[in-house]
Amino acid sequence: MLSSISNMRNMAMFPYTKAVREHIAAHPEMYDLAVVLRSPLYEMVRVRGKERTLSALTDMAAGGRSFTADEECRREILSFAVSRMICSVIGDRFLVNRVAVTEGKAAGALLARNHALLMPMAAEFGIDPIEEHDGSGMYSIHFTAFLKYSSKMRSPEWKLLYQRIKRGRVAVDEHRLIRLVEQAITDHLSERLPPYTDEIRSALSAEIHEVVTALNEKKAEFQKNNLGDISEARYPPCMKEILHQIQTSQNVPQMGRFAIVTFLHAIGMSAEQIFDLFSSVPDFRADKTRYQIEHITGRISSTEYSVPECSTMKSYGICYNPDGLCDKEWMKHPLTYYITKGRPAKSPARKRPPSRRQ
Ligand code: SF4
Repeated sequence: MLSSISNMRNMAMFPYTKAVREHIAAHPEMYDLAVVLRSPLYEMVRVRGKERTLSALTDMAAGGRSFTADEECRREILSFAVSRMICSVIGDRFLVNRVAVTEGKAAGALLARNHALLMPMAAEFGIDPIEEHDGSGMYSIHFTAFLKYSSKMRSPEWKLLYQRIKRGRVAVDEHRLIRLVEQAITDHLSERLPPYTDEIRSALSAEIHEVVTALNEKKAEFQKNNLGDISEARYPPCMKEILHQIQTSQNVPQMGRFAIVTFLHAIGMSAEQIFDLFSSVPDFRADKTRYQIEHITGRISSTEYSVPECSTMKSYGICYNPDGLCDKEWMKHPLTYYITKGRPAKSPARKRPPSRRQ
Protein backbone atom coordinates (compact mmCIF):
# COMPACT_ATOMS: atom_id res chain seq x y z
CA MET A 1 0.00 0.00 0.00
CA LEU A 2 2.88 2.34 0.79
CA SER A 3 4.24 2.00 -2.72
CA SER A 4 2.10 4.90 -3.93
CA ILE A 5 4.12 7.27 -1.75
CA SER A 6 7.38 6.10 -3.20
CA ASN A 7 7.34 7.68 -6.62
CA MET A 8 9.49 10.77 -7.00
CA ARG A 9 6.60 13.22 -7.27
CA ASN A 10 4.94 12.00 -4.09
CA MET A 11 8.24 11.86 -2.23
CA ALA A 12 8.79 15.51 -3.17
CA MET A 13 5.36 16.41 -1.77
CA PHE A 14 5.91 14.47 1.46
CA PRO A 15 9.68 14.50 2.00
CA TYR A 16 9.54 13.14 5.59
CA THR A 17 8.32 9.63 4.82
CA LYS A 18 10.09 6.31 5.23
CA ALA A 19 10.06 5.96 1.43
CA VAL A 20 12.22 9.10 1.16
CA ARG A 21 14.67 7.87 3.80
CA GLU A 22 15.00 4.55 1.95
CA HIS A 23 15.38 6.29 -1.38
CA ILE A 24 18.20 8.49 -0.04
CA ALA A 25 19.92 5.50 1.57
CA ALA A 26 19.77 3.66 -1.78
CA HIS A 27 21.16 6.64 -3.76
CA PRO A 28 23.69 8.41 -1.51
CA GLU A 29 25.57 9.81 -4.52
CA MET A 30 22.48 11.87 -5.47
CA TYR A 31 22.15 13.39 -2.00
CA ASP A 32 25.71 14.32 -1.09
CA LEU A 33 25.31 16.90 1.68
CA ALA A 34 28.76 18.43 1.24
CA VAL A 35 27.99 19.18 -2.40
CA VAL A 36 24.47 20.48 -1.68
CA LEU A 37 25.81 22.87 0.98
CA ARG A 38 28.68 24.31 -1.03
CA SER A 39 28.19 23.91 -4.76
CA PRO A 40 26.88 26.87 -6.79
CA LEU A 41 24.82 24.29 -8.70
CA TYR A 42 22.69 23.88 -5.58
CA GLU A 43 22.22 27.52 -4.76
CA MET A 44 18.53 27.41 -5.72
CA VAL A 45 18.05 24.40 -3.44
CA ARG A 46 19.49 26.36 -0.53
CA VAL A 47 17.34 29.37 -1.40
CA ARG A 48 14.21 27.18 -1.55
CA GLY A 49 15.16 25.59 1.80
CA LYS A 50 15.47 29.04 3.36
CA GLU A 51 12.19 30.22 1.82
CA ARG A 52 10.50 27.08 3.04
CA THR A 53 11.57 28.01 6.56
CA LEU A 54 10.73 31.71 6.17
CA SER A 55 7.24 30.84 4.91
CA ALA A 56 6.42 29.65 8.43
CA LEU A 57 7.14 33.16 9.73
CA THR A 58 5.35 35.03 6.98
CA ASP A 59 2.19 32.90 6.95
CA MET A 60 2.74 31.76 3.38
CA ALA A 61 2.08 28.16 2.36
CA ALA A 62 5.18 25.94 2.38
CA GLY A 63 3.95 23.49 -0.21
CA GLY A 64 1.63 23.67 -3.15
CA ARG A 65 4.27 23.44 -5.89
CA SER A 66 3.95 20.88 -8.61
CA PHE A 67 6.82 18.82 -9.96
CA THR A 68 7.09 16.84 -13.11
CA ALA A 69 10.75 15.99 -13.73
CA ASP A 70 12.59 13.66 -11.34
CA GLU A 71 15.36 16.24 -10.99
CA GLU A 72 12.85 18.85 -9.75
CA CYS A 73 11.55 16.33 -7.23
CA ARG A 74 15.05 15.52 -6.02
CA ARG A 75 15.78 19.22 -5.50
CA GLU A 76 12.54 19.67 -3.59
CA ILE A 77 13.48 16.80 -1.27
CA LEU A 78 16.88 18.44 -0.77
CA SER A 79 15.29 21.81 -0.03
CA PHE A 80 13.32 20.19 2.76
CA ALA A 81 16.58 18.79 4.17
CA VAL A 82 18.12 22.27 4.04
CA SER A 83 15.12 23.72 5.89
CA ARG A 84 15.45 21.06 8.60
CA MET A 85 19.14 21.87 9.01
CA ILE A 86 18.40 25.59 9.33
CA CYS A 87 15.87 24.79 12.06
CA SER A 88 18.32 22.49 13.83
CA VAL A 89 21.10 25.05 13.93
CA ILE A 90 18.80 27.85 15.15
CA GLY A 91 17.14 25.48 17.63
CA ASP A 92 14.33 27.89 18.53
CA ARG A 93 11.17 26.10 19.72
CA PHE A 94 8.87 28.79 18.35
CA LEU A 95 10.45 28.48 14.89
CA VAL A 96 10.47 24.68 14.97
CA ASN A 97 6.78 24.55 15.93
CA ARG A 98 5.77 27.05 13.27
CA VAL A 99 7.68 25.23 10.55
CA ALA A 100 6.15 21.92 11.67
CA VAL A 101 2.63 23.39 11.63
CA THR A 102 3.20 25.00 8.21
CA GLU A 103 4.49 21.74 6.71
CA GLY A 104 1.59 19.85 8.32
CA LYS A 105 -0.95 22.28 6.87
CA ALA A 106 0.67 22.07 3.44
CA ALA A 107 0.47 18.26 3.64
CA GLY A 108 -3.22 18.48 4.62
CA ALA A 109 -3.95 20.66 1.57
CA LEU A 110 -2.07 18.24 -0.69
CA LEU A 111 -3.95 15.25 0.73
CA ALA A 112 -7.28 16.96 0.17
CA ARG A 113 -6.37 17.08 -3.53
CA ASN A 114 -4.67 13.67 -3.72
CA HIS A 115 -7.17 11.26 -2.22
CA ALA A 116 -5.24 8.17 -3.28
CA LEU A 117 -2.43 9.14 -0.92
CA LEU A 118 -4.56 9.57 2.18
CA MET A 119 -4.62 5.91 3.24
CA PRO A 120 -0.88 5.28 2.73
CA MET A 121 0.03 8.54 4.46
CA ALA A 122 -2.21 7.72 7.43
CA ALA A 123 -0.61 4.26 7.63
CA GLU A 124 2.84 5.88 7.51
CA PHE A 125 2.06 7.52 10.85
CA GLY A 126 0.41 4.47 12.42
CA ILE A 127 -3.18 5.61 11.95
CA ASP A 128 -4.31 2.42 10.14
CA PRO A 129 -7.64 3.61 8.68
CA ILE A 130 -10.20 1.15 7.36
CA GLU A 131 -12.49 2.54 4.71
CA GLU A 132 -16.18 1.77 5.19
CA HIS A 133 -17.42 0.39 1.87
CA ASP A 134 -21.02 1.33 2.45
CA GLY A 135 -21.05 4.54 0.42
CA SER A 136 -20.86 6.69 3.57
CA GLY A 137 -17.36 7.99 2.81
CA MET A 138 -16.41 7.19 6.39
CA TYR A 139 -13.30 5.54 7.81
CA SER A 140 -12.62 3.93 11.14
CA ILE A 141 -9.36 4.15 13.07
CA HIS A 142 -8.21 2.53 16.27
CA PHE A 143 -9.07 4.65 19.29
CA THR A 144 -5.44 4.77 20.47
CA ALA A 145 -4.38 6.43 17.21
CA PHE A 146 -7.33 8.78 17.49
CA LEU A 147 -6.35 9.75 21.02
CA LYS A 148 -2.69 10.15 20.17
CA TYR A 149 -3.28 12.76 17.48
CA SER A 150 -6.50 14.40 18.68
CA SER A 151 -5.18 15.18 22.16
CA LYS A 152 -4.03 18.66 21.07
CA MET A 153 -7.36 19.49 19.49
CA ARG A 154 -9.44 20.90 22.24
CA SER A 155 -12.76 21.60 20.59
CA PRO A 156 -15.51 19.25 21.80
CA GLU A 157 -15.92 17.54 18.43
CA TRP A 158 -12.59 15.76 19.13
CA LYS A 159 -13.45 14.51 22.59
CA LEU A 160 -13.54 10.71 22.76
CA LEU A 161 -16.80 10.99 24.64
CA TYR A 162 -18.55 12.36 21.56
CA GLN A 163 -17.19 9.80 19.09
CA ARG A 164 -19.00 6.93 17.44
CA ILE A 165 -16.93 3.93 18.53
CA LYS A 166 -17.39 0.33 17.44
CA ARG A 167 -15.12 -2.49 18.60
CA GLY A 168 -12.44 -0.04 19.67
CA ARG A 169 -12.47 1.89 16.39
CA VAL A 170 -13.54 5.53 16.00
CA ALA A 171 -15.56 6.64 12.96
CA VAL A 172 -14.09 9.65 11.15
CA ASP A 173 -14.93 11.27 7.84
CA GLU A 174 -12.28 12.16 5.28
CA HIS A 175 -11.92 15.73 6.48
CA ARG A 176 -11.16 14.59 10.05
CA LEU A 177 -8.84 11.84 8.85
CA ILE A 178 -6.83 14.42 6.89
CA ARG A 179 -6.73 16.64 9.98
CA LEU A 180 -5.34 13.76 12.06
CA VAL A 181 -2.65 12.99 9.46
CA GLU A 182 -1.80 16.69 9.37
CA GLN A 183 -1.34 16.66 13.15
CA ALA A 184 0.75 13.48 12.95
CA ILE A 185 3.11 15.17 10.47
CA THR A 186 3.26 18.31 12.63
CA ASP A 187 4.10 16.25 15.74
CA HIS A 188 6.70 14.24 13.84
CA LEU A 189 8.46 17.35 12.56
CA SER A 190 8.31 19.29 15.79
CA GLU A 191 9.74 16.39 17.79
CA ARG A 192 12.57 15.31 15.50
CA LEU A 193 15.35 17.47 14.15
CA PRO A 194 18.47 16.23 12.37
CA PRO A 195 21.83 16.68 14.11
CA TYR A 196 24.07 19.36 12.64
CA THR A 197 27.78 20.02 12.43
CA ASP A 198 29.93 23.16 12.39
CA GLU A 199 30.31 22.64 8.68
CA ILE A 200 26.55 22.86 8.18
CA ARG A 201 26.34 25.95 10.41
CA SER A 202 29.08 27.67 8.46
CA ALA A 203 27.83 26.68 4.97
CA LEU A 204 24.31 27.93 5.73
CA SER A 205 25.33 31.00 7.73
CA ALA A 206 23.76 33.52 5.31
CA GLU A 207 20.44 31.64 5.21
CA ILE A 208 20.47 31.20 8.98
CA HIS A 209 21.12 34.90 9.51
CA GLU A 210 18.14 35.80 7.33
CA VAL A 211 15.82 33.41 9.15
CA VAL A 212 17.00 34.59 12.60
CA THR A 213 16.34 38.21 11.59
CA ALA A 214 12.80 37.34 10.47
CA LEU A 215 12.27 35.30 13.62
CA ASN A 216 13.32 38.16 15.88
CA GLU A 217 11.05 40.56 13.99
CA LYS A 218 8.13 38.17 14.40
CA LYS A 219 8.76 37.84 18.13
CA ALA A 220 9.06 41.62 18.55
CA GLU A 221 5.76 42.00 16.71
CA PHE A 222 4.12 39.66 19.22
CA GLN A 223 5.45 41.59 22.15
CA LYS A 224 4.22 44.87 20.72
CA ASN A 225 0.79 43.43 20.05
CA ASN A 226 0.39 41.63 23.32
CA LEU A 227 1.37 44.21 25.86
CA GLY A 228 0.49 47.85 25.31
CA ASP A 229 -1.44 49.42 28.13
CA ILE A 230 -3.31 46.27 28.85
CA SER A 231 -1.88 44.24 31.66
CA GLU A 232 -1.28 40.67 30.58
CA ALA A 233 -0.27 39.81 34.15
CA ARG A 234 -3.92 40.11 35.10
CA TYR A 235 -5.20 37.71 32.44
CA PRO A 236 -6.88 34.62 33.84
CA PRO A 237 -4.98 31.37 33.26
CA CYS A 238 -7.42 30.20 30.57
CA MET A 239 -6.77 33.31 28.43
CA LYS A 240 -3.02 33.13 29.06
CA GLU A 241 -3.03 29.56 27.78
CA ILE A 242 -5.05 30.43 24.68
CA LEU A 243 -2.65 33.30 23.97
CA HIS A 244 0.28 30.94 24.48
CA GLN A 245 -1.25 28.52 22.00
CA ILE A 246 -1.57 31.32 19.47
CA GLN A 247 1.99 32.49 20.04
CA THR A 248 3.45 29.00 19.70
CA SER A 249 1.43 28.36 16.55
CA GLN A 250 -0.69 25.61 18.00
CA ASN A 251 -4.13 25.03 16.67
CA VAL A 252 -6.46 27.01 18.88
CA PRO A 253 -9.97 25.52 19.07
CA GLN A 254 -12.77 27.58 17.61
CA MET A 255 -14.31 28.28 21.00
CA GLY A 256 -10.89 29.34 22.32
CA ARG A 257 -10.59 31.90 19.53
CA PHE A 258 -14.07 33.19 20.25
CA ALA A 259 -13.31 33.46 23.98
CA ILE A 260 -10.01 35.30 23.53
CA VAL A 261 -11.50 37.78 21.01
CA THR A 262 -14.41 38.64 23.30
CA PHE A 263 -12.06 38.87 26.30
CA LEU A 264 -9.48 41.12 24.62
CA HIS A 265 -12.25 43.31 23.24
CA ALA A 266 -13.83 43.57 26.70
CA ILE A 267 -10.60 44.72 28.33
CA GLY A 268 -10.10 47.44 25.74
CA MET A 269 -8.03 46.02 22.90
CA SER A 270 -8.97 47.36 19.48
CA ALA A 271 -10.17 45.08 16.68
CA GLU A 272 -6.97 45.97 14.80
CA GLN A 273 -4.76 44.88 17.70
CA ILE A 274 -6.67 41.61 18.01
CA PHE A 275 -6.36 41.08 14.25
CA ASP A 276 -2.58 41.54 14.43
CA LEU A 277 -2.41 39.05 17.25
CA PHE A 278 -4.24 36.43 15.21
CA SER A 279 -1.97 36.81 12.20
CA SER A 280 0.30 34.21 13.80
CA VAL A 281 -2.36 31.50 13.85
CA PRO A 282 -1.34 28.62 11.55
CA ASP A 283 -4.47 28.65 9.40
CA PHE A 284 -4.70 32.44 9.43
CA ARG A 285 -6.79 33.87 6.64
CA ALA A 286 -6.80 37.64 6.77
CA ASP A 287 -10.23 38.21 5.21
CA LYS A 288 -12.00 35.53 7.24
CA THR A 289 -10.27 36.48 10.50
CA ARG A 290 -11.05 40.17 10.09
CA TYR A 291 -14.68 39.34 9.39
CA GLN A 292 -14.91 37.11 12.49
CA ILE A 293 -13.29 39.68 14.79
CA GLU A 294 -15.45 42.50 13.50
CA HIS A 295 -18.52 40.31 13.83
CA ILE A 296 -17.74 39.17 17.38
CA THR A 297 -16.86 42.65 18.55
CA GLY A 298 -20.08 44.06 17.12
CA ARG A 299 -18.42 46.33 14.57
CA ILE A 300 -20.34 44.85 11.62
CA SER A 301 -23.16 43.13 13.45
CA SER A 302 -25.92 44.15 15.77
CA THR A 303 -24.57 41.92 18.51
CA GLU A 304 -21.54 42.54 20.64
CA TYR A 305 -20.77 39.10 22.02
CA SER A 306 -19.95 38.65 25.69
CA VAL A 307 -17.02 36.78 27.16
CA PRO A 308 -18.14 33.20 27.96
CA GLU A 309 -18.68 32.45 31.63
CA CYS A 310 -16.38 30.04 33.45
CA SER A 311 -19.04 27.31 33.32
CA THR A 312 -19.16 27.60 29.51
CA MET A 313 -15.35 27.62 29.29
CA LYS A 314 -15.31 24.45 31.37
CA SER A 315 -17.90 22.68 29.26
CA TYR A 316 -15.80 23.38 26.14
CA GLY A 317 -12.64 22.11 27.83
CA ILE A 318 -10.87 25.48 27.63
CA CYS A 319 -10.77 26.35 31.34
CA TYR A 320 -7.00 25.81 31.28
CA ASN A 321 -4.82 25.72 34.40
CA PRO A 322 -7.29 27.18 36.94
CA ASP A 323 -5.43 28.59 39.93
CA GLY A 324 -6.33 29.46 43.53
CA LEU A 325 -8.32 32.55 42.53
CA CYS A 326 -10.33 30.45 40.07
CA ASP A 327 -11.17 28.10 42.95
CA LYS A 328 -13.03 30.83 44.85
CA GLU A 329 -16.71 30.09 45.07
CA TRP A 330 -17.62 33.47 43.58
CA MET A 331 -15.31 33.16 40.58
CA LYS A 332 -17.77 32.70 37.76
CA HIS A 333 -16.32 34.79 34.96
CA PRO A 334 -12.88 35.42 33.37
CA LEU A 335 -13.52 39.18 33.53
CA THR A 336 -14.12 38.90 37.29
CA TYR A 337 -10.67 37.35 37.49
CA TYR A 338 -9.14 40.23 35.48
CA ILE A 339 -10.89 42.89 37.55
CA THR A 340 -10.03 41.22 40.86
CA LYS A 341 -6.38 40.97 39.90
CA GLY A 342 -6.32 44.69 39.15
CA ARG A 343 -7.64 45.75 42.53
CA PRO A 344 -5.07 47.08 44.93
CA ALA A 345 -4.32 44.62 47.70
CA LYS A 346 -6.37 45.34 50.80
CA SER A 347 -4.36 47.13 53.42
CA PRO A 348 -4.59 45.59 56.86
CA ALA A 349 -7.49 47.05 58.88
CA ARG A 350 -6.38 50.02 60.90
CA LYS A 351 -6.66 49.61 64.60
CA ARG A 352 -8.75 52.12 66.38
CA PRO A 353 -6.91 54.08 68.98
CA PRO A 354 -7.94 52.90 72.43
CA SER A 355 -10.77 55.08 73.74
CA ARG A 356 -10.05 57.12 76.79
CA ARG A 357 -11.88 56.16 79.90
CA GLN A 358 -14.30 58.79 80.99
S1 SF4 B 1 -12.09 29.26 36.35
FE1 SF4 B 1 -12.76 30.80 34.88
S2 SF4 B 1 -11.17 32.36 34.94
FE2 SF4 B 1 -10.29 30.55 35.88
S3 SF4 B 1 -9.24 29.49 34.23
FE3 SF4 B 1 -11.30 28.62 34.34
S4 SF4 B 1 -12.51 29.79 32.91
FE4 SF4 B 1 -10.65 30.95 33.27
